[in-house]
Amino acid sequence: MRIDVVTIFPDYLAPLGLSLPGKAQERGLVDLRTHDLREHTHDRHRTVDDTPSGGGAGMVMRPEPWGEALDAILASPPEPAVRPRLIVPTPSGHPFRQADAHRLAAEPWLVMACGRYEGIDQRVVDWAAERMPVEEISLGDFVLNGGEVAALAVIEAVIRLLPGFMGNPESLAEESHGGDGLLEYPVYTKPASWRGHDVPDVLLSGDHGRIAAWRREQAERRTAERRPDLLADEPGSGD
Ligand code: SAM
Repeated sequence: MRIDVVTIFPDYLAPLGLSLPGKAQERGLVDLRTHDLREHTHDRHRTVDDTPSGGGAGMVMRPEPWGEALDAILASPPEPAVRPRLIVPTPSGHPFRQADAHRLAAEPWLVMACGRYEGIDQRVVDWAAERMPVEEISLGDFVLNGGEVAALAVIEAVIRLLPGFMGNPESLAEESHGGDGLLEYPVYTKPASWRGHDVPDVLLSGDHGRIAAWRREQAERRTAERRPDLLADEPGSGD
């Protein structure tokens, strides 16, 4: 998979060189490229923003550097005739979910456009949508300073699903937001007793049937308490 990220802060993406994402790059599972939007400016101050049309507070990212940056990326596809999917993080996008991570993990090429200030001139999205699939996605109902943290989160959620990323792919089988729609049950390790808190007896029983039943019940209880909306989303729930 190839992922291109356009940003005015390429260093924000540096953590993707660490830990498992870093290893995935070394092993060629993902080809991650960051691009400095300011390389596509032509004035002394390398300006990427301007005042909002119609007035108001803040600044908006001008379309020209974005157009040039996207042109340059499109000119070097990973394979001839492959088109990227453009991901535009924005608080007004559709909420990013695990199902989206699975869907994007099947794509050969993602391009991520990290906005700053009040966001990117809408014409960039409209122009791109005439040439490639575009998704405006939100990390949640809050506002960040820029799209880089959202890009980091989306990239990490996507590449950990790539075949060969996880040493033990079973780690992906029983997770929150998986196929059963439940949050994960609480997890414990050794020692059996720590500061007056014990590992539940059932987990030390060696009875796999009882352990599975306990975990399922805990997952259901946790989901009902913390995220009842997920239960309402279950297929066949009538919503
Ligand atoms: N004026 C915008 C609004 O009210 O919708 C907020 C702009 S925000 C300060 C700057 C950039 O941060 C956005 O263009 C986007 O790239 C990113 N961003 C902020 N919150 C985000 C979120 N919840 N999800 C994804 N990206 C976000």
